[in-house]
Amino acid sequence: MNYDVIIIGVGVVGSSVALGLAQQGHKVAIVDKSPIPPNSPRHLSVNKKSSAFLDSLGVWESVKSSSMPYSKIQAWDREGTGKVEFSAKDIGENNLGFIVREGDLQDFLVASLKQERVDIFWSRELVNIEDKKGLVEISLDDGEKIICSSLLGADGISSKVRELCNFKIKSWSYDQQAIVGQIDSREKLDNVIRQSFTKYGPLALLPINSKQMTMIWSVDNKNIQDLNELEDDLFLEKLQQEFGGKIRELKFSSKRFTFPLKHLTAMGFAKGRIAILGDAAHHVHPLAGLGLNSGLGDAESIVKLFDKYPALKVEAILKQYSNERLPINIGLAAAMEIFKRGFGNQNIWLKTLRNITFKFVDNQQEIKNTFVKLATTL
Ligand SMILES: Cc1cc2nc3c(=O)[nH]c(=O)nc-3n(C[C@H](O)[C@H](O)[C@H](O)COP(=O)(O)OP(=O)(O)OC[C@H]3O[C@@H](n4cnc5c(N)ncnc54)[C@H](O)[C@@H]3O)c2cc1C
Repeated sequence: MNYDVIIIGVGVVGSSVALGLAQQGHKVAIVDKSPIPPNSPRHLSVNKKSSAFLDSLGVWESVKSSSMPYSKIQAWDREGTGKVEFSAKDIGENNLGFIVREGDLQDFLVASLKQERVDIFWSRELVNIEDKKGLVEISLDDGEKIICSSLLGADGISSKVRELCNFKIKSWSYDQQAIVGQIDSREKLDNVIRQSFTKYGPLALLPINSKQMTMIWSVDNKNIQDLNELEDDLFLEKLQQEFGGKIRELKFSSKRFTFPLKHLTAMGFAKGRIAILGDAAHHVHPLAGLGLNSGLGDAESIVKLFDKYPALKVEAILKQYSNERLPINIGLAAAMEIFKRGFGNQNIWLKTLRNITFKFVDNQQEIKNTFVKLATTL
């Protein structure tokens, strides 16, 4: 069977690009090694640009009803007095984005892919890619071979497409692991994302409804064992201390999970008829909650370019995509690196500087507005 485009990876990024291209009339197939839609329980922040893209695909209204809008982001240095607040009001909006359950997003996307008659190959793993008379032939782990005009790798941080096509990358460990869990609160929660820069690493609490929140605590490797060994009650006591006593009466409603954190950027996102996008192309620290958003930005860029230049060769479209998205993602990676190093450092002069910077930025509305616009339109 031949396809115009095959996408590897039914994550949110892969499903979105598949849906956008299928809606344009391209013959699309998507392959994933998992047996069924993963129904991930994770909650992620989705910015304005991403929700507008999902709306253009026709899935946003369904997702929106179960999501939590947030109108402010507050961040402070637990070890000092600096704090900064970004508010939707300052840019004339009702909210800055939404907290969405990844599984809901995946379900609605997969349902729409089926409506568009996209062929979905579950439980199949990509194992090889070959050039076949100018087209791309992929081999799956059950021996099946499929030909396509163009291949998109949205197969996550350990991308096989990236590996098989020898995309050059820069990658390093952040020497941190993210402890993630869901927490119930007895107090009613407001729609504010809060982040405390603690001596262990950044601790973010994202409300997912009026009674529950998601915790993402990026903890330095040297402290991870101490925190992970704590029973839930003691862990929450530590969390309250480090957060700054602003929340009370908490209880875990999920297990705690730990993810190693690393940085990765490919040095180009396209080679001929093959391109990579989402975490396959770039992976940044979760402290600004922008990884999925920048992956959806990649998907939107590809969908728009295919629509704008129907007569252009696929190689030229994918080259244009890489030229468009590489600088944006390198800029994001650099910003995350400055944040990570600035806040990870316990040097007294750096601590003083970051507190001064927080206070200065908090008083500079223009700088804050620019920052918010960038973070919501990535
Ligand atoms: C703790 C944490 C919190 C985060 N919070 C946020 C947030 O609030 N907001 C935000 O924007 N981002 C956030 N991120 C980043 C975000 O989770 C990722 O950027 C995003 O989920 C990547 O999506 P993706 O579709 O590119 O990849 P994935 O979701 O990893 O999907 C890849 C898919 O490819 C499939 N696959 C892999 N290899 C193969 C193969 N060989 N053959 C077939 N299939 C294959 C996999 O089964 C999977 O379904 C966070 C990340 C972490 C670690």
